[in-house]
Amino acid sequence: MQIKITKSKSERNTECEDSIANYNVSELSTDEFKTAQYELTVPNSVGGIIYLCLPRQVKESSELIPPSLFKSGFLKWYHQGPNVTLNLTSSESRKKLSLQRRQVPSDQNTLRVMGIRLEAAYKEPDFDDNGVPILLASQEHTIRLFGEGFTRDMMITFTTDTGNYSMHCALPAVRGFPIEKEDVFVNHTVKVKINLPPIPLDTDGFFLCVKQGNSTSLFIHQGAEYWLQIKTYEKLIPTWASIVIIIVCLSFSSLFSGLNLGLMSMDKTELKILCNTGTSRERKFAQTIQPVRAHGNYLLCSILLGNVFVNSIFTILLDDLTSGLIAVIFSTLAIVMFGEITPQAVCSRHGLAIGARTIWITKFVMVLTFPLSYPIAKFLDCALGEEIGNVYTRERLKELVRVTTGENDLDKDEVNIISGALELRKKTVSNVMTRIEDVFMLDYETVLDFETVSEIMKSGYSRIPVYEGNRQNIVTMLYIKDLAFVDPDDNTPLKTLCQFYQNPCNFVFEDVTLDVMFKIFKEGNKGHMAFVHRVNNEGEGDPFYETIGLITLEDVIEELIQAEIMDETDVFTDNRSKRRRIAERRQDFSVFAEKRGEPNKMRISPQLTLAAYQYLSTSVEPFHPNVISETILRRLLKQDIVIHIKKNKDWRTDPTNVIYDQGKPVDFFVIILEGRVEVTVGKENLMFEGGPFTYFGTQALVQTVGIESPSVAPSTMGSLESLNIDSLLRHTFIPDYSVRASTEVLYLKIKRSLYLAAKRATLMERSKKGEHQTEQQFDEEVDKLLHSLDEDDVVSDGKRTPNRKSSKTKSQEIKDNLSLQTSPKTPSHYSNTSPPHRLSARDINGSIKSSPVDDIQVSSKDEEMSLLPKRS
Ligand code: ATP
Repeated sequence: MQIKITKSKSERNTECEDSIANYNVSELSTDEFKTAQYELTVPNSVGGIIYLCLPRQVKESSELIPPSLFKSGFLKWYHQGPNVTLNLTSSESRKKLSLQRRQVPSDQNTLRVMGIRLEAAYKEPDFDDNGVPILLASQEHTIRLFGEGFTRDMMITFTTDTGNYSMHCALPAVRGFPIEKEDVFVNHTVKVKINLPPIPLDTDGFFLCVKQGNSTSLFIHQGAEYWLQIKTYEKLIPTWASIVIIIVCLSFSSLFSGLNLGLMSMDKTELKILCNTGTSRERKFAQTIQPVRAHGNYLLCSILLGNVFVNSIFTILLDDLTSGLIAVIFSTLAIVMFGEITPQAVCSRHGLAIGARTIWITKFVMVLTFPLSYPIAKFLDCALGEEIGNVYTRERLKELVRVTTGENDLDKDEVNIISGALELRKKTVSNVMTRIEDVFMLDYETVLDFETVSEIMKSGYSRIPVYEGNRQNIVTMLYIKDLAFVDPDDNTPLKTLCQFYQNPCNFVFEDVTLDVMFKIFKEGNKGHMAFVHRVNNEGEGDPFYETIGLITLEDVIEELIQAEIMDETDVFTDNRSKRRRIAERRQDFSVFAEKRGEPNKMRISPQLTLAAYQYLSTSVEPFHPNVISETILRRLLKQDIVIHIKKNKDWRTDPTNVIYDQGKPVDFFVIILEGRVEVTVGKENLMFEGGPFTYFGTQALVQTVGIESPSVAPSTMGSLESLNIDSLLRHTFIPDYSVRASTEVLYLKIKRSLYLAAKRATLMERSKKGEHQTEQQFDEEVDKLLHSLDEDDVVSDGKRTPNRKSSKTKSQEIKDNLSLQTSPKTPSHYSNTSPPHRLSARDINGSIKSSPVDDIQVSSKDEEMSLLPKRS
């Protein structure tokens, strides 16, 4: 606080108008600033009584008024009244007074501080070049004084004025600090807690002043030596600002580390993919990020520099706010939790969105850190080369697709196709080809007759290799469509067809990879089949090409999609394991093919047999597949049942032309295959004509005896017992019409006994199905059954003699096989009596009636022998 002196007398609190001089306080009392000491230097011209003026605020506040306020003229001075006066003496007496005042009291002379030691500081202190400690202003620190004459009630203070020992401290900078009472008192050292203000700019430091406890005594300057000085510094940033900056730094730290992971983990390739294939949102984000991400190292350096920068500021400020250890622990925890873990976890999932939305910050940081980060980035670019981005090899791509199954939206088939496509290059044709020994091929010399064509049809392949000489020597190919104009009846040599079409063969080496093969097939120049060959240089002699298999487009595609392709004609599901397809078996027409080496048999063309088979099984009730199975019917048709009535001049009178004679009992069924017949019906001799596929005499076939045995077979079939009884009856049918050939006629004549045998065979086939019997075993048995009838029953022109002996043996054999348990009495019972009922049915050719069994005509023993099974 300054004061002014004036010569003019005035009332208290009136404004001081003219002042002589103003003075700074020279010493303040330490007891709460209630007294202050001023050193007045008054000009010689001034004498007598002078009055004092004080600034207004002095009245209201006990605070020190900063000198700057005095200078600015902000304050007004007020007179302290006529009673506050000083009476100035002459100049000699003034000198004397001055001398007196400078004299140090004798009791204070002994108190002297020799040195200071800093015991505890709020923060680690710095020291200037002279070893003067620099302490944080406005914080409490503990110092220890060393010297002599110390007392328990001594006080210290600091001044910014330099001075020598024993001078008065004219202007203490702070209030006095008492010594620490609890410290063990030794009279040459004491401990004091001090709290110093920031050091004024134009001063060198704080100098120590001490005094004894008496409040009226003066502080004595302890000299300006370095070891008695203390300096202070002030915090640059206020606490609130530090807290704000710390929060901002932490946020940026978290953003930078998030961006580091989010942007840098997304490589150029990934961004390109997203730009092209992402959702519209992803595309937008990726397009925003892409230009920045293109400068990979520059971005990396900028982000890292930014991150380190904010982390450092954060730590320093935190250190300023707290003590060292707390700052370390807190900053570590805060940076790890909020600056690393959380943002990285978030950005690993939403890096794209966050990166795109904060791209302006990233760009700003890049600009800000340009001088440092750009050169480093350039250096890294040169040293490490250009960043290419993630490049997926075939293996990695495959594995990527496989391991992300479940998370990606690919289903299993798609994953298989991708894997297959990627593996195509790794596999060679020899891995997937059909081995040569499994190839269905034709000899160049083959004749395309019904049998061959049937075999081709049965194989199910549409491209058949043709070899000449041996199977290794493939010369051409036969396409199924080449057979379109070929009639099997023409017995065209395959050679002719091959020469006409001249289909080329494509040969590839066994080590050709599937991708190359696929390309060749795609071009399609040599078709979709290729033969796989290799150079055989084993053994002696020249190396030669050896064909080891064939490969088709289907084989390659199967590898591509990693699944078996089945088409409507395929027989095998897998060409290498030869696993058969579990599907309805295709019709095997080759069974209709003529068997060579049966010269006595009347033969019809296989096509005609096939037509008869189709017609009987679909249109004639007794031959329906429910009654006679398809396999048995096919076998039945291969029996010696074809009759040919040749052209004859007097066919009207020739008795051999008569197929059915009205009123004469017959036991056979007839179906006309070729030619025409004349049918005369009833007493009125009504006549009409019949052509191919007209049939007669179904009544001769139908079952007479009906013994239900549902447990054995379906009711449509009857039981084996009833069949056996039926066969033992010499059932005949008396037609009420005549059938006579009117042209050359070819017809099938199926005897009742043969028909019953076929029925029985069907029953047997069905009952055997569940049992473990191979097809071959079964075929043999059926053959025996049907063939035995051939020998028993003479059908062709009645010329053949039944071989009773052999038939008996065979019949017995089959009978044993069937193990039929019919009572031996039953047949004799039925054979000697009429059937239990008459049957009547409507044939397509008119009304016909069954007749009672003509038992008398047949010796029961013979018939028993001729029917199967003979005995049960
Ligand atoms: P397409 O389906 O064009 O009619 P295809 O059924 O005859 O022809 P592909 O589908 O190409 O024959 O092949 C099916 C499988 O059969 C493949 O594994 C192939 O190797 C094999 N294959 C093709 N032709 C023959 C053949 N003549 N002999 C043996 N296997 C063959």
